[in-house]
Amino acid sequence: MEDFSETPQLIEQAQKIYTENFNNSVTFERAVFFSWGCMIGDCTFCYMSTQPLEKVVQETKRSNSSILAEFILCKHLGWDIGFFTGGIGALKPDELESLLKSIYEITNEKIWLSIGPISKLLLQRYLPYIKGVVGSTETINPILHKQVCPSKPLKPYEMMFENSKEFDLQRAMTFIVGMGEVKSDFSLLAEFITTYDIHKIHVYGLIPQKGTPFENAEIPSEEQQAWWIAKLRIEFPTLDIQCGIWEDRLERIPLLLKAGSNSISKFKALKLFGTEIAQGIENQATLANRNFVGSLTRIPEIDWNHGIEKLSFESKLKEDIKKKLEIYLKRMRKNIHNHNEK
Ligand code: SF4
Repeated sequence: MEDFSETPQLIEQAQKIYTENFNNSVTFERAVFFSWGCMIGDCTFCYMSTQPLEKVVQETKRSNSSILAEFILCKHLGWDIGFFTGGIGALKPDELESLLKSIYEITNEKIWLSIGPISKLLLQRYLPYIKGVVGSTETINPILHKQVCPSKPLKPYEMMFENSKEFDLQRAMTFIVGMGEVKSDFSLLAEFITTYDIHKIHVYGLIPQKGTPFENAEIPSEEQQAWWIAKLRIEFPTLDIQCGIWEDRLERIPLLLKAGSNSISKFKALKLFGTEIAQGIENQATLANRNFVGSLTRIPEIDWNHGIEKLSFESKLKEDIKKKLEIYLKRMRKNIHNHNEK
């Protein structure tokens, strides 16, 4: 394990830079998934790599009603959309375009899209509904990248980033701390961010997925994850940095925010809504003197069905969305009730 003892000094410097460039709020960002299967399927850290090979990827799609119900929830709970994502090859371009159009009608905002490398032609098609593209780059160390993403080279993402400039789209990338990257790799990461003029980075900590080679791996320490975030904040004062957390790592939130993160993600926000864990996230954010935007614990008093009725979708889809939404809300209310009973 490398020495991260300089992390506190870096955090102090990073915090100063953060306050010079951003306000003191922190948002929760939700990644909305459209499938649980992927055509690539062999990235060694990924949950989707544990899915049965014989499963047809297109059959792993979520229903449109479930996806759209989730976007309605995100909007009213004050969550930003980290990105709309899913396994590569799960959706045909027509299906995706139609979904993006429906999502745009709900959110009234363009979203980030993370669906693997996107061709120039498709970027143009999705342009009315997206503000940027996310490259799931994971690591920039070329040797490590080959090991952890054997069938997902960086080159096509680099091409997408270049093409996105022509359409004035923003660019984001992902980075997973704890897979084997070393501190000296920071220069490679910084060079990549500069070359492709990256606006946003998602800095996750490895989640050892059952059934993958990382199953028994040690999770990165909070100092280690904070080190990468602080280094990025110092090098790139205005870069949008999102930190990934997990339900077993709430106590590191203040450190990751102080290191210069703008937002939090990677939390099972619907499943754990209203629980002690969700409350813990909001509390931890305040420990870093940041105002938590939106809520992981309170459901707004609104007429959900009225909002759905106003959408231009077919009646059958609207009815299905209402049903899905009610299932989500029921579970969320139950969580709140159970938490209050404790
Ligand atoms: S391409 Fe993405 S979704 Fe597919 S296996 Fe790799 S990391 Fe998982």
